[in-house]
Amino acid sequence: MAEARVRLYLDHPLGAGQTVPLSRDQAHYLGTVMRLRPGDALAVFNGCDGEWRAMLCRGATLHVTAQTAPQRNPPDLWLLFAPIKKARTDFIVEKAAELGAARIMPILTERSQSRRIARDRLQAHAIEAAEQCGGTFVPPVDALRPLGDVLADWPPERQLMFCDEALADRSSALAGDLAAVGAGDVARQRGGACPWAILIGPEGGFTDAERARLAALAFAHPVRLGPRILRADTATVAALTLWQDRLGDWR
Ligand code: SAH
Repeated sequence: MAEARVRLYLDHPLGAGQTVPLSRDQAHYLGTVMRLRPGDALAVFNGCDGEWRAMLCRGATLHVTAQTAPQRNPPDLWLLFAPIKKARTDFIVEKAAELGAARIMPILTERSQSRRIARDRLQAHAIEAAEQCGGTFVPPVDALRPLGDVLADWPPERQLMFCDEALADRSSALAGDLAAVGAGDVARQRGGACPWAILIGPEGGFTDAERARLAALAFAHPVRLGPRILRADTATVAALTLWQDRLGDWR
């Protein structure tokens, strides 16, 4: 059987023999953009049932045939970030989905400039990233919430990699670098994967009050991402990469 070259996310249960109706947009994408014809095969996934082979049928429906890959979820890692300009925020969501964040949490901080998000658009970016990168999982994008509220509800067993730009100009010995994230090794020894989160600030960075609040939290570990101040989108990619390499599913 020919390899399916198109992958499509479906918000529908998947199983052998299922018939799935397509939305107008999906039918347009498959027929007009990807030029599939009735009888052509494609790969589909819904975020929880793995990947399946499906066949395009007449009347804008798909017929699901067989599972082609099991469900693969990323490690239990949340990404908290303060949204910035539109294109850069889209980039952050796309990269977070590709690099294996399990949940994307836009937050409001004292220096946030973007005080509103287009959540549907951001969720669509996460879906598209999963379609492109062969993933079977789609991280949910939460509504925007103030950082203080998120910290007030924090599950204490979840560790927080607090990316603090104030550490950039310290010597790495002083700042501890990623040694702080070594706390995760302890957690791992204590019994399997430990839930984590990464926190990235807005263009203006964190205020002293926010830094003081975070310093008082036992689960928060200040981390330095090298000696240069990175833009928030770069910092997000760097932090996710570092975390996945040290504690995630890259090893
Ligand atoms: N305007 C601020 C920088 C904000 S950078 C200033 O000049 O100080 C945006 C976010 O990226 C920061 O809040 C932090 O979370 C992260 N970040 C950037 N560079 C970093 C570094 N070297 N170490 C740790 N975090 C960093």
